[in-house]
Amino acid sequence: MNTILDQIVKECREYTAKGHVATYIPQLAVADPNKIGICVVSHSGETYCAGDCFDKFTVQSVIKPLILLLALMDSGPEKVRALVGVEATGKPFDAFNYSDLALTGAHINPMINTGAIALCTLIHGESYDVKFARLLELTRKLAGNQEAELDRAVYLSEKKTGSKNRALVYMLKAYGMIDDPAEELLDCYFRACSILVSCRDLAQIANVFAHHGRDPLSGDRLFPKEFARYVNATLATCGMYDGSGEFALNVGFPAKSGVGGGIMGVIPNKMGVAAFSPALDKRGNSVAGIRMLERLSQSLELSIF
Ligand code: GLU
Repeated sequence: MNTILDQIVKECREYTAKGHVATYIPQLAVADPNKIGICVVSHSGETYCAGDCFDKFTVQSVIKPLILLLALMDSGPEKVRALVGVEATGKPFDAFNYSDLALTGAHINPMINTGAIALCTLIHGESYDVKFARLLELTRKLAGNQEAELDRAVYLSEKKTGSKNRALVYMLKAYGMIDDPAEELLDCYFRACSILVSCRDLAQIANVFAHHGRDPLSGDRLFPKEFARYVNATLATCGMYDGSGEFALNVGFPAKSGVGGGIMGVIPNKMGVAAFSPALDKRGNSVAGIRMLERLSQSLELSIF
């Protein structure tokens, strides 16, 4: 496996020059576009790595499956489903051009900003500080990494410049979908997106989703099977922004990307995988990351379709 991964990194390195690091969050612009890494965590818990597999980057939208999971665990699928739908929007992750007469849950899904922000309101906790702390705790637990921490510079950078996300929150409030204080809610979401992870962490998290909520090593159930099914299904249809259909066709497994350059991939019953490379395409997906996962899928026949 290590030989396959080394070869993939070697062959895909050229794609790091074909994208651009995110700049709309100023602190993300300092990322090194030449970084590239891939990781596979197998059914039996073996970890295989190549390239910059242990480099840290901010999780960004790859936290969305965990926000969804915690909302499901805390509030149950009925409330989650009533607030946020499951249909792919075909629009960018931060779109606010909802031209419908009234915005409803049916227009959004958990893998775009509007849906993920709305779902933060369903996480239990007497304050948004507590909600964030519980999300961080869940991230650490699923990643098997108690050291996972916040990147304060990225968090403050997004907090200062996140006007689009502010607009989305006020839109949700304007349509009566949420009631909570906008700045506290946003602060929780910005912090959640700024948790530092590595490729290894993401592959580990993906492996738990691949095993339907069970830690494949210890056999411990970390969350109910039906919630893994809920999350994996939305990853398959909406996880790669408005490139989800193309990803399903060319790569073929549930996955989630983030503008920090990370992508996590869930191969049901088999393994968790993750790729990292900060240079993004116009949709916000890591260019080399997608290429690496495409090659991995081809060489190990991982497409579920
Ligand atoms: N924090 C980012 C934002 O809300 C996450 C976007 C992403 O990774 O897709 O704009």
